[in-house]
Amino acid sequence: MNKDIENINWDVLIIGGGATGIGAAIDSASRGYKTLLVEQSDFGKGTSSKSTKLIHGGVRYLQQGNIGLVMESLKERAILKKNAPHIVHDLEFIVPNYDWWEGPFYGIGLKLYDLLARKESFGDSIFLSKEETIAYLPTIEQNNLQGGILYHDGQFDDTRLLISMMRTAENHGGILLNYTKFNGFLKKENKIIGGVIEDIETGTTTEIKAKVIINATGVYADEIRKKDDQQSSTIMKGSQGVHIVLDKEFLPGNKAIMIPQTKDGRVLFAVPWHGKLLIGTTDTPITKHPLDPLPQEEEIQFLLSHAAIYLTKNPTKKDIKSIFTGIRPLASSGNPNNTSEISREHRIEISNSGLVSIMGGKWTTYRKMAKDVINAASTLVSLPRVKSPTATLKLHGYDKNASLHEDLSIYGSDASSIKKIISEKTSHKNRIHPNYTITVGQLLFSIRYEKAKTIEDLLARRTRLLFLDAKASIEAAPTIAKLLATELSKSVEWSDEEIKRFQATAKTYCI
Ligand SMILES: Cc1cc2nc3c(=O)[nH]c(=O)nc-3n(C[C@H](O)[C@H](O)[C@H](O)COP(=O)(O)OP(=O)(O)OC[C@H]3O[C@@H](n4cnc5c(N)ncnc54)[C@H](O)[C@@H]3O)c2cc1C
Repeated sequence: MNKDIENINWDVLIIGGGATGIGAAIDSASRGYKTLLVEQSDFGKGTSSKSTKLIHGGVRYLQQGNIGLVMESLKERAILKKNAPHIVHDLEFIVPNYDWWEGPFYGIGLKLYDLLARKESFGDSIFLSKEETIAYLPTIEQNNLQGGILYHDGQFDDTRLLISMMRTAENHGGILLNYTKFNGFLKKENKIIGGVIEDIETGTTTEIKAKVIINATGVYADEIRKKDDQQSSTIMKGSQGVHIVLDKEFLPGNKAIMIPQTKDGRVLFAVPWHGKLLIGTTDTPITKHPLDPLPQEEEIQFLLSHAAIYLTKNPTKKDIKSIFTGIRPLASSGNPNNTSEISREHRIEISNSGLVSIMGGKWTTYRKMAKDVINAASTLVSLPRVKSPTATLKLHGYDKNASLHEDLSIYGSDASSIKKIISEKTSHKNRIHPNYTITVGQLLFSIRYEKAKTIEDLLARRTRLLFLDAKASIEAAPTIAKLLATELSKSVEWSDEEIKRFQATAKTYCI
């Protein structure tokens, strides 16, 4: 850890390196505030890597009548597509209809969705005949199929966006540290004046002075609130969501399926993503919050059996290439047993000693959440008044013509730096696994410029191999360990341990 960090009187210290914390770091740094962020593991290790990968208004919230949240999300969707066109793009979804009433019912709902997006709409929804629906979704179950409705929403790669956001915050002068844990508060006359952070790699602890501390730790927010005030109430409710990843042959083409209401009242998506098919999700209330949560057997059965209802080929456990589980950080106001009923809106709380906690929300609305929490924090400690510039702030790698970079398009303007690394040595062109196009050069770029420190950082969050094909990622691990050891000057023992650590995590992504 850089020694200077303890000598600076930080304006804002942010705890948590997920969408909420890194969003806040961009907002704070781009207003000119001295900003430090600490993440105990890697950026995105928590929930922010395990989403359904949708930047969406949320058709489900429309069903629940939460028009305000839908409008806010649709506005944020448009802003994100403008500011990060290399990562956020339009995706066409089809709602297949099996009952006579579903066409008009969902058709009207989706027209309302178009209307709420107003001029920011990604495209008009249209009714499809049975034949058109089959042409777009060749493997859709045809028994009793009446037709469908096609609508538009946003799709992204959650951790690629997060890494682009991390670099944006640093481009504006922020310092963002992964593998650095927040351990406790420093107080004077019962007011927070800083905190103690720990470098997880070396075990060194450092005292940090900060005018204000923001708790953006998602599902762990109550733990930090209790470090500040033992008596604080419990706000966070965890709800687990599982996705299974299948080969694309289960749903060829480039359209997604959206089932607004399964027989037991849930929403189900089947979404093409990086050449695979992602099916999710579940909504299971849980009380424990491990960083690597495990899917429950009923959740796996729910996803497999419902995929079988809508697809001609019935997937089995053997077809699952990867399975990932995330925990929704829901900020409850009452005590509902059904977590799907808890609002996805965010909530900001300021404690008596001045801790600013931001809780709840969704990936799509991270920018608005960031603006709100930095407004609250800067007012609390009287930082110079500066308006948030993020509505028009282009994110790192911004490139309108990113598709020209083909396999590297998601890196946007960084693709040219990766190509340069690849051109330096023949071995940099090598694929890390024969079935996937990820190259050694890509990983070297992430080690040198994107703070990747472990095999998992590289295979789970800088590239997505662990999420796409867990077995292939285990096979690639020894090559990656060697690469890391050379780049970071680590020993053979470190590299052997690193492979074991990765294998243990990767097992939680295997069925
Ligand atoms: C299954 C599922 C699907 C979803 N799909 C979508 C979707 O398609 N679109 C959408 O908009 N939203 C979606 N969401 C919601 C979205 O993913 C979350 O709202 C968002 O990722 C939460 O981000 P966060 O930063 O608040 O939390 P996290 O990403 O969990 O980040 C919190 C971080 O704080 C760190 N931390 C905790 N304690 C400490 C400490 N003491 N010191 C330092 N760091 C600490 C953790 O390690 C963690 O990385 C989905 C959620 C789930 C679960």
